[in-house]
Amino acid sequence: MTDRRSDDVQHDPAAGMAAIAVPTQEAFEAHLAPYAAHSAQSRGRRYSEAAPSARSEFQRDRDRIVHSTAFRRLEYKTQVFVNHEGDLFRTRLTHSLEVAQIARSVARNLRMNEDLVEAISLAHDLGHTPFGHAGQDALNECMREHGGFEHNLQSLAVVDDLEEHYGAFNGLNLCFETREGILKHCSRDNARRLGALGERFLEGRQPSIEAQIANVADEIAYNNHDVDDGLRSGLLTIEQLAEVELWQTHYDTARRDFPQIEGRRLIHETVRRIINTLIVDLIDTTKLNLVRYAPASLDAVRAAPALVAHSDAIAAQAATLKRFLFKNLYRHYRVMRMANKARRVVVGLFDAFTEDPRLLPPSYQAVDEAQQSRLIAHYIAGMTDRYAVKEYQRLFVIDDN
Ligand code: MG
Repeated sequence: MTDRRSDDVQHDPAAGMAAIAVPTQEAFEAHLAPYAAHSAQSRGRRYSEAAPSARSEFQRDRDRIVHSTAFRRLEYKTQVFVNHEGDLFRTRLTHSLEVAQIARSVARNLRMNEDLVEAISLAHDLGHTPFGHAGQDALNECMREHGGFEHNLQSLAVVDDLEEHYGAFNGLNLCFETREGILKHCSRDNARRLGALGERFLEGRQPSIEAQIANVADEIAYNNHDVDDGLRSGLLTIEQLAEVELWQTHYDTARRDFPQIEGRRLIHETVRRIINTLIVDLIDTTKLNLVRYAPASLDAVRAAPALVAHSDAIAAQAATLKRFLFKNLYRHYRVMRMANKARRVVVGLFDAFTEDPRLLPPSYQAVDEAQQSRLIAHYIAGMTDRYAVKEYQRLFVIDDN
C-alpha cells in the first residue's frame, strides 16, 4: 500500500497477517492545509448523529448524495439540450460529474478537502427543474406571488427536506459546510430566513475554499462542454469560434501538435487544452492569493476576499467565451424554440394544479392552502424532462389510451 492510509496498517502477530485499523476522522484528512474544511471541525448537522466509522463526515455526505433520488433524476434533466435531442449531449448528471472531476483536481493541488468539493459538486444542481434554465425561469414566473423559485435554493430544499430516505429526519441531514457550498447565491430576504447558513450573504463573507472551488469548477465545466455540445449539435461552428481567443489559441496549438487530425478528435484536443489551461491558471492564481492573504484557518478564509480565482488575463478570456455562448448558443433560435415549448409545459402544469389541486398526487395536496403553491413547485421541480412531458400529456391530451 502506498497511499496515506498505509500508516494505519498494524501488524497483528497473533493472526500472522496485517490487520487494517479503521482510520480516524483526523487520519482521513491529515494531509489537508490548516485552512481547509476538516470534518472534525465541522459546524455539524441539523440533527446530531454518531460519527461515521469508516469514512469522514464529508465522505458520508458525498455518499448520501449519490444514493439520493434527486441525484438519479439528474440523468434525465436538461443541461442545454433536452434529453431526447441526442444520446451524446451533456445531461445534468454528466455535467455534475465533470464539475466534480475538475473541482477535485483543483482541491487536491491546493490540499483542500476533496471529499467536500466532490459532495458540493455532485449536489449543486439537484434542485434544477426539468428543461434547464427555461424551466426554472417559467417556474419562477409562476411562483412570483408566492416567494419565487430559485434552483439554487431548491437544491438546498432537496437535501434539507425533500429527500425521504432516513428514519430520523427528512432530507439528507448534510454537514453545514456541504449545505453552505450548495447555496451559491441567495437574496437578502431568503438569507434572513436561513439563519446561520444565510449569514454570509448579509455580512459579505465568503464560504469555504472548497465551496469556492466547486463554484468556479461549475463554470469551467459548462463553458467547455457547451462548446463541445454546441459543435456536436451543429448550432455552433468552428468558423464562428475563431473570434474567441481562448478557443482559437488552443485550436491552433492542437492543429500544430496533430496536423493529421480533424473533426471530433480536433475539437476534443482543443477543449482539453482549454480545460487544462483554466485549471492550471485557477490553481496558480489561488496559490498566490493564499500566500498573499495567508489565512490561518477556515474562519480566516470566510473573512478574506474570494481566494479562488483566475488571473485577470484568463478571467477576461473566459468571460469572452461565456458571452459568445450566451449570444450564439443559449439564444440560438432552435434552443429558443425548445425553451418556449418547455415554458408551455411548466406553466401549463402549474396552472392546472393551481386551478384544481385534486389533480396532484395526494402527497402534494396541501392541508394548509397557503402551502399549496410551494408544493406544486416542489412537484414540478422534481420532474425529469420526459416525466414533465408525460404529465402534460396526461392532463391535456385526450387519446384512446
Ligand atoms: Mg451546474
